[in-house]
Amino acid sequence: MNSASKNFDYIIVGGGASGLMIAYRMSRDAYFHNKSILILDQVKKSNNDKTWCFWEKKKGDWDDILNHFWKDIIFKGDSEAMQTSIEPYVYKMIKSSDFYKKIWKTIGTKKNIQFSEENVVEIQQEQSFGVVYTTQNEYHSKKIINSILFTDAYQKQQKYPTLQQHFVGYFVRTKEPVFTTNAATFMDFTIPQKGNTRFMYILPYAENEALFEYTLFSKELLDYTTYTDAIKSYLKEKNITDYEIVEKEQGAIPMTSYKFWNSNSDNIIYIGTAGGWSKASTGFTFKNIDKKTRLLIHHLKKETSLKSFQKTNRFWFYDLLLLDILSKHNEKGAAVFSRMFKKLSPQLILKFLDEETTFTEELKIFSNMQIRLFSKALIKRLF
Ligand SMILES: Cc1cc2nc3c(=O)[nH]c(=O)nc-3n(C[C@H](O)[C@H](O)[C@H](O)COP(=O)(O)OP(=O)(O)OC[C@H]3O[C@@H](n4cnc5c(N)ncnc54)[C@H](O)[C@@H]3O)c2cc1C
Repeated sequence: MNSASKNFDYIIVGGGASGLMIAYRMSRDAYFHNKSILILDQVKKSNNDKTWCFWEKKKGDWDDILNHFWKDIIFKGDSEAMQTSIEPYVYKMIKSSDFYKKIWKTIGTKKNIQFSEENVVEIQQEQSFGVVYTTQNEYHSKKIINSILFTDAYQKQQKYPTLQQHFVGYFVRTKEPVFTTNAATFMDFTIPQKGNTRFMYILPYAENEALFEYTLFSKELLDYTTYTDAIKSYLKEKNITDYEIVEKEQGAIPMTSYKFWNSNSDNIIYIGTAGGWSKASTGFTFKNIDKKTRLLIHHLKKETSLKSFQKTNRFWFYDLLLLDILSKHNEKGAAVFSRMFKKLSPQLILKFLDEETTFTEELKIFSNMQIRLFSKALIKRLF
């Protein structure tokens, strides 16, 4: 590659969920059709490395690749269990392999979009443009859209509590049809908490196939076998003994109010988890990527500084309070979420997590939570 061709109108660093989704949206918008776009990733992804779930009210952009969907959810708290409809919401599941395939099918045909398999080591803001350094090359652009977390600064800082949503999942196939496929188990807190917030997350997508994910909202990761032993004993308890494990997944998503977007500059924007798009109180990210990439398209078309994209809202502060509580009293997660699901409709909870509630609805939510616990956290934050 000669030096002249190393300048691009846009460089997308990281071709995972957020990088590919912004590339997809750019490829479908005429404004970008004559713009040169480079996507960099250490690997061109096609395998099924993640299962993404999210809820949405209406039809969505990813409906043609849904693996399964549920209109009911199950929540098992510290004292009671419930199965309830979430309509008009639908809980949707997609396999990342189908997502990558769909996106590459569209962007792979665009002449203005190039992909290069390279290891990115650094990105830097210069006076009026950004630079991407890979192990082989140096690229320049006025718009760098980056989804790689280069530092662990968010873990080292003390200002905001940092937990992780960490989990190991087994995709289980049984001989007999033992699963009911109409309800996804959001959280089953009936498992030993061991001083943490621990729950089982279950997605039955066929009568003989389901994903069982042993999940924690806590500071420290566990030994791999602790997660897998917990899944095995859970299955045994449910009398599910004749099964094979057809796939596995594992993850750790940051849960923090750390302002990742403070790294944004005039010519560089951080997106996806690296941009703080993972919801701090839950780790859910996919829906945020869906929403924010649409907004980012509008912002890119304004041709203003990338620094002004991200805005902090009151939900950022609500998440901070919950994380303050879970960080100090990690064992109280089961009680906090149980109370939430006992007192409030799931639709209101989902709307709140989508950051779409009104202030009046939020007052209703807070008045139904553990007032003392939340007031203490509020006072400590404010003073
Ligand atoms: C197993 C798993 C399951 C999840 N399930 C859900 C879910 O159900 N719902 C939900 O909302 N969220 C979920 N998440 C959280 C979130 O949606 C995903 O992590 C999502 O992939 C985040 O997108 P991203 O673009 O920020 O990061 P990624 O998708 O990880 O993309 C980053 C890309 O950068 C590339 N890269 C990294 N370092 C370099 C380097 N040095 N040089 C070149 N390329 C590099 C990687 O190869 C990768 O392709 C899950 C996360 C995991 C790990």
